Amino acid sequence: MSNSKYIDTHCHIDGEEFGTDRQDVIERARQAGVTKVFVPAIDLPSSERILNLCRQYPGYLYPMVGLHPEEVRTDWREQLDAIRQLIKPNARQSMVNVQCSMSNVQCPIAIGEVGLDYYWSREFEQEQLEAFEEQVRWSVETRLPLMIHCRKAQNEMVMIIKRYARELPGGVFHCFTGNAHEAEELLQFDRFVLGIGGVLTFKKSHLPEVLPQVVPLSRIVLETDAPYMAPVPMRGQRNEPAFVRHVITRLAVAYGVSEEEITEQTNNNVDRVFFSNCSVMSHG
Ligand SMILES: [Zn+2]
Repeated sequence: MSNSKYIDTHCHIDGEEFGTDRQDVIERARQAGVTKVFVPAIDLPSSERILNLCRQYPGYLYPMVGLHPEEVRTDWREQLDAIRQLIKPNARQSMVNVQCSMSNVQCPIAIGEVGLDYYWSREFEQEQLEAFEEQVRWSVETRLPLMIHCRKAQNEMVMIIKRYARELPGGVFHCFTGNAHEAEELLQFDRFVLGIGGVLTFKKSHLPEVLPQVVPLSRIVLETDAPYMAPVPMRGQRNEPAFVRHVITRLAVAYGVSEEEITEQTNNNVDRVFFSNCSVMSHG
């Protein structure tokens, strides 16, 4: 495990939970072998804050911009109009991105986190649907992948993704905790992968049985969702990127492969979803 390099594709390291020791958390992540950390936004202020924060850690922290379903309220349209301004048209392919990659300017790596969440409330059900669909269209326009959050709304979410499936560049169904049928339904979108984190290690989780049955390793990326969802044996504590190694250990047992195999496969998947179509960027 000591030499393995892996990526945390979903970490709220901009959060106030890391306000006093963010530098230490990042240092521990580097020492644990985390080579990149992707940071999802939840609204306009966090999108701006994350772009600024990631500018301080170029090549390590990668920003996303977007409006989280639980943040969709009456002002959702104004929020979206302002967030859209943070993304250049055709961000992934344009010459603007070449300049981004060569200067210190950070371009978003994905649209996220976006989706539907009816767990606590359906008060803004209709607004959530509209806000999500608009951000799905941004993904089509900009070629930036989607980081999708979905709770108690898979049917509705799948219906929207289906409408754009042929045009979408891909993305992550983040924090997957569903059953075999739900996994198969998501895997029909072949440019998408499932984000797997601490829940896998929980004692009552059925993921160690479900995942090897129906999800090939080519369809999984690693995530913490820190500061939430800390894996066993850290459960209940503040989560951080260095703890992904406990997820890797559990995945290796579940799939009956080495931990190196898990890190290699999941790194390839991250490259495919987030860094392909980027030949302009990498060779620019
Ligand atoms: Zn999140």
